[in-house]
Amino acid sequence: RSEGISAAAVVLYDPAMKDYSSEEMILRSALEEAIEQDEFLVYYQKKISLKDSRVIGLEALTRWQDTASQFVSPMQFIPILNKYHLMNRFGYLILEKVLKDVPEIDARFGADLHIAINISPSLFLDPGFPEFLIAAVRNKGVDPRRIILEITEDVFIEDISKLRQIVEKLKAESLRISLDDFGTGFSSLSYISNLQLDELKVDKSFIDDIHTNEKKFGIFSSICTIGHLLGYTVVAEGVESEAQLTRLLDTDCDIAQGFYFAVPAPVIEL
Ligand code: C2E
Ligand code: MG
Ligand code: MG
Ligand code: MG
Repeated sequence: RSEGISAAAVVLYDPAMKDYSSEEMILRSALEEAIEQDEFLVYYQKKISLKDSRVIGLEALTRWQDTASQFVSPMQFIPILNKYHLMNRFGYLILEKVLKDVPEIDARFGADLHIAINISPSLFLDPGFPEFLIAAVRNKGVDPRRIILEITEDVFIEDISKLRQIVEKLKAESLRISLDDFGTGFSSLSYISNLQLDELKVDKSFIDDIHTNEKKFGIFSSICTIGHLLGYTVVAEGVESEAQLTRLLDTDCDIAQGFYFAVPAPVIEL
């Protein structure tokens, strides 16, 4: 977890620095400061069970406002955190913040909501990660079965035997793992059948035109079938309209999430 210090020192003396835009340098140091000063906020988006229309869980999504109080999208700052080796410090910080929010979440919803946390590949593959998470979850007295780690297909750059070790360590503690943005990366029928994860979160690009495009509907329905065959829960992300929801209800999809149901919001506004 000391990566930031050495990485910063290397970049200072890097002759390639002229290749980095000054805008990027400003963002990078603002993000370092944000980590130091604990400036990140965690918003949560509801996940809805399609079986009974109830809120079944929340996904934690990080928000950050720069010095001009503008929200900077994670799509913009996450690549910078990765590029400058700040990702793991950020990731550990966010994990702790989310676990700290659980009592407030429970006060609002009762103590049975799933809490999904996005985990970058570098954090997931960090040797200290499983132990850190297991200890933090125990420390906070949170039932580990409620925690879902959302990883992306990028983790498959690691070899399968190493991945299996990590997955088994986490699952031995009853933590759950979701494959986010499923269908966009190095897929993966072999991965999802060789690694026993828990949830497939099908990418928004399959949901966008599910109500207008029979092929996309067919692909999505088939993913539900395959997912269930392998023992996964299937989630549709990015549901924005009633027409999409109606079509989703013609499939076996278990859970849906999207602006149609709720936008991400701070705990106190949920
Ligand atoms: P993701 O995990 O796939 O999260 C879904 C993204 O889609 C979120 O964007 C969410 O706000 C947005 N979204 C949800 N419903 C809808 C919808 O109906 N329509 C549209 N157009 N968008 C919808 P956000 O919060 O900007 O996050 C973008 C990505 O950044 C996330 O994608 C995730 O990969 C990453 N991210 C966000 N927070 C964290 C974090 O704390 N740690 C890590 N490692 N990654 C994060
Ligand atoms: Mg996610
Ligand atoms: Mg996603
Ligand atoms: Mg996505």
